[in-house]
This record gives sequence, C-alpha cells and structure tokens, in this order.
Amino acid sequence: MINKIENYEQINGFFGEYGGQYVDEELKEEFNKIYDEFLKLTKSEDFKNELNELYKQYSGRPTPIYFAKNLSKKYGNEIYLKREDLNHTGAHKINHCLGEALLAKKMGKKKIIAETGAGQHGVATATVAALLGLECDIYMGEVDINKAISNVNKMKLLGANVISVTSGSKTLKEAVDEAFIAYKKEYKTALYAIGSVVGPHPFPAIIEYFQSIIGREARSQFIEMKNCLPDYVIACVGGGSNAIGMFDGFLNDKSVKIVGVEPLGRGEKSGENAASINYGKDGIIHGFKCKLLQDNAGNPIEAYSIASGLDYPGVGPKHCYLKDIGRVDYETISDKEALDAFFELSKTEGIIPALESSHAVAYGIKLAKNNQNKKILINLSGRGDKDIDFILSNCK
Ligand SMILES: *Cc1c(COP(=O)(O)O)cnc(C)c1O
Repeated sequence: MINKIENYEQINGFFGEYGGQYVDEELKEEFNKIYDEFLKLTKSEDFKNELNELYKQYSGRPTPIYFAKNLSKKYGNEIYLKREDLNHTGAHKINHCLGEALLAKKMGKKKIIAETGAGQHGVATATVAALLGLECDIYMGEVDINKAISNVNKMKLLGANVISVTSGSKTLKEAVDEAFIAYKKEYKTALYAIGSVVGPHPFPAIIEYFQSIIGREARSQFIEMKNCLPDYVIACVGGGSNAIGMFDGFLNDKSVKIVGVEPLGRGEKSGENAASINYGKDGIIHGFKCKLLQDNAGNPIEAYSIASGLDYPGVGPKHCYLKDIGRVDYETISDKEALDAFFELSKTEGIIPALESSHAVAYGIKLAKNNQNKKILINLSGRGDKDIDFILSNCK
C-alpha cells in the first residue's frame, strides 16, 4: 500500500513503503540519537553558517549553471548544465561529506568510517576528515583497490587508513558489509559516513538534506537566467544522492518534468545492468527497503555499469516512492550511449564529464533529438578525470 505523502518528506523513516530501519535494537538506538542531533543542528544558525562557509570557501559553491551553446545549437533545444563537477574533489559527494563530518564533530565523534567503490566517496570522506581533524577508516574491496590505485594513493596522502576487503566478490557490496561490522564495534566514538541516500533511516534523510543545496541553487539560478523554469530536469541515479539533491528543488513545480537516469550497462539481463528501479523488486539491503536487483532467493545480485559509481544493486528509498507516485520518470542509458555522450560533451563543449554523469548527458541529448525548443537542465554530477585512463585503454 502506498501511503501518499504530499510534501515528499519521510514519515517515521519511510517514504511510502520504502526505507525503514532494518537493524538491531542497539543500532536503532544510536541511529535515533544521530537523527535527533541532526535535527537539532539543522535548526542551529551557527551550524548552518559553518556549513555554508565551507560550501563557499572550501568547495567553491555556488556551482554555476552553464548554457551549453554548442550542444544546444546542434540539437535544436536549450541544454543547461549544473556544474557539480566544479566542486572541490570533482563531484557532488563533497556536499554530504562536509555535512556528515561536521555532524560527527558536533556529536563528539573522533572518527569517520566509510566504504568506497571506485574511491570517489573515499577521497571525499578522507578530504573532509583531514579538514576537520577526524580519523578516517575507508573500507574498499581488494579488486577495486587494484583498479583505482590513484584514488587509494590520494586517500593515504590525506591521512586515511584504507582497509582492503577480501571477502566475496571483493567489491563495493562487501566493503559496505565490512564497514558496517567495524562501525558496530566502534559506534560510540565513530560516525558512519554513508556515500549516498541509502542505508537505514536516518541516513537517506540526512544525505538528502545536505545534497538539496544543488536543487535550491539550480532553481534560483535558472529563474535568474531565464525568468522561467526548465521544462526538464535530469540526473543520473546510482544510490540517488545527486539526483535527489537536484530533484528536491523542483518536485513542487508541476510543470517541470523530472527524469532519473539509471545505468542499463550491457543490457536488460540480470547481472548486466544496475537499473534497480527499472528491473528490481522490493527487497531489503544494508538495513533499508527499496527496489533491489536480486536473485530468486531474494539475495542482492552484483550490479554492473561501466560507471562504477552507479553499480549498486539497491537505490534510495525516496526514488522508489517518487517512481510509485509517478512524480519522477526513471529511464535507462546503456554503457555505449553513456560513452558516446562522454566523448560528445568533451568535444563539443570542452567539458569532460564523469562516466556516471555521462548517463544524464546522454539522456538529455536523446531528449533534445526528439523535441524542439525545450529547456533541458542536466545535473553534471562530476568530472571525468578519474575515467580517462580507463576509457583510453578499454574503449577506443
Ligand atoms: C558517486 C557518483 C555518482 C552516483 O552516486 P549518487 O548517489 O547516485 O549521486 C554519480 N556521479 C558521480 C560523479 C559520482 O561520483
């Protein structure tokens, strides 16, 4: 049963029927404490000022909206990019990492614990830990460590401990499992800095709060530039944090069509994509309920996308809810289409996008090919520097 929520906020940790807190009593108690502290801080002017100063001075906010003239001319529509790629550390992740680290600090925690797949969340977490003087343990699958050695080196340079995870497939899912086990032992002195709008309540709500700066900025910048709202707002969806941050600015604007773009990977077959909303079924992973890519026994399967930041078998609970009530459309883009968009944006605008963000760009271009005179706003969640070596050695 879908419990319709007019204002799109979570109620008791649930968005409709998704979310929740599927953890033991001990952790529930700690999580509820974290949420209380978080709610208190969101009402504190000091906390908000401190965070805003960091956004401004440290991360470089507000990030601009760029009118992509060449792409627009080529496809006969107006295409705009929200430049989250210009943030310090190269993506939107710093928005919530700064918030989480500040929360940890205010709660008197000494350490932040996080998992990372390709290393992007690990680097952003290690960065804010260095800034705020917190210890930092990053759990990372052995396979991913070998693939993303430059991010591993960055984390070490920033003073973080990178802990190699050797269980199971030695990738992101196992890294989350291990980080959770470690956190359970250390929660009195550590905060889990989750990497997206996933996990048990209150993490999706907390991450969303910090990421919603994207949509707030984008809406007022767009109105200032164009004196109207965009026709379409588009973002890629892995766990869903950059997308929720962007969408929140526009959910109440009924004229704005909102599209989340999931990775179709190599195709529709199970194990070949990471499109949880399009191909998943209701299930529980890492302490929350969502649309989950799973096997017949209900176990999460290993998701696949060329963009490693998108290959999580679950997805944020609010996205599942927004899909169910029909407010947001969730479409898919394949590896090949994302790669084409990666090259196209690089060559036509001189902006090299992250492979994750290339999914949103690809969908924007597809939309532009089939429409006229529409204003299309794409969230460019990150820059592509991290992807260049991989693409040049594997894809040309
Ligand atoms: C991590 C990452 C993503 C995916 O995470 P979401 O929580 O879905 O936003 C998307 N884009 C970039 C550049 C990333 O680094």
